[in-house]
Amino acid sequence: MTDLKSMLPQELEEYLKSLGQPKFRAKQLFSWFSKGAQSFEEMSNIPKALGEKLSAEGYINSLKLLNKQVSAIDGTIKYLWELRDGNAIETVLMRYDHGNTVCISSQVGCRQGCAFCASTIGGLVRNLTPSEMLDEVLFSQLDSGERISNIVIMGIGEPLDNYDNVIKFLRLVNHPEGLNIGMRHISLSTCGIIEGMDALAKEDLQITLAVSLHAPDDETRSKLMPANRHCGVDELIKACKRYFDRTGRRISFEYSMIDGVNDSVSQAEKLGEIATKIGAHINLIPLNHVEEREFAPTKKDNLKAFCRVLESKGANFTIRRKLGGDVDASCGQLRRKREKEQMRGEK
Ligand code: SAH
Repeated sequence: MTDLKSMLPQELEEYLKSLGQPKFRAKQLFSWFSKGAQSFEEMSNIPKALGEKLSAEGYINSLKLLNKQVSAIDGTIKYLWELRDGNAIETVLMRYDHGNTVCISSQVGCRQGCAFCASTIGGLVRNLTPSEMLDEVLFSQLDSGERISNIVIMGIGEPLDNYDNVIKFLRLVNHPEGLNIGMRHISLSTCGIIEGMDALAKEDLQITLAVSLHAPDDETRSKLMPANRHCGVDELIKACKRYFDRTGRRISFEYSMIDGVNDSVSQAEKLGEIATKIGAHINLIPLNHVEEREFAPTKKDNLKAFCRVLESKGANFTIRRKLGGDVDASCGQLRRKREKEQMRGEK
């Protein structure tokens, strides 16, 4: 079956041509897909015969809502969606002053194995299709009834391990006749896949690249993030510099503060030096405790001392506000909960 919703209007035109259909239908279909239409019958300007032909050959992707948690503290919404094959993924809708932001997943599971992360526990199941990622944005918008203006690809999965589908998703969601979300309102977060970062730089997309650094030295980073064993911090920073030089877009470092692991003064000094050297912005994130993991968030005093060092180095940083603390909003946790429930059910 053809995944019709993963096609850009030009591709839909080609597809329709191969079915002997006029190309103006492509625009109509794309517009219906972007409004969340789930069947051809509801498309008032699409002839019945064409609808029948298309449904025999292809499908309109959609997501089924499995669970929705709304934070009583800040209105953050955490969605658990079921995909066509029964797999589940998470999307988080956060409310900021600059607009509603969704944090979307790019894969079912993840193969990267970061030591503190819940998403990677069961390994990688499969990549998400462009239409599945698009639907995370679209269905969050439809369910909440509020316009989504920003996207962060920081949910379950490593987006640069699903490169082609993620690029296609970006072009779909950015399309003026689709959801029309500006590239400058989109951030993509990676654990540091160098080839992917170099390829992304060449796409000239104007998105923000966030790099999960989490430690400025190889010894600590390799313990936390297996990806660092293939390519160390120096190589990673060089790739960040190449990205910045090519795109003019400032890199953003994510740094989840873990008690006694990456929160020392000497690590703060090194981080500050790296960030100022390449003009990167640092996002300090309080670690979210994950049941299966032994790590604890950094202590308040350590955070303060860490920030003082960063300031003294002239580094640009912010401490990320914790949203949705009461709704399992740390990525991968809701899906993990469902897996555990399913396992218990099978016993
Ligand atoms: N694979 C991508 C994007 C998904 S994770 C990446 O590695 O960047 C999004 C961010 O959340 C990453 O910075 C990741 O390291 C961080 N993260 C994962 N688990 C976390 C936890 N328990 N507490 C705090 N941050 C976490």
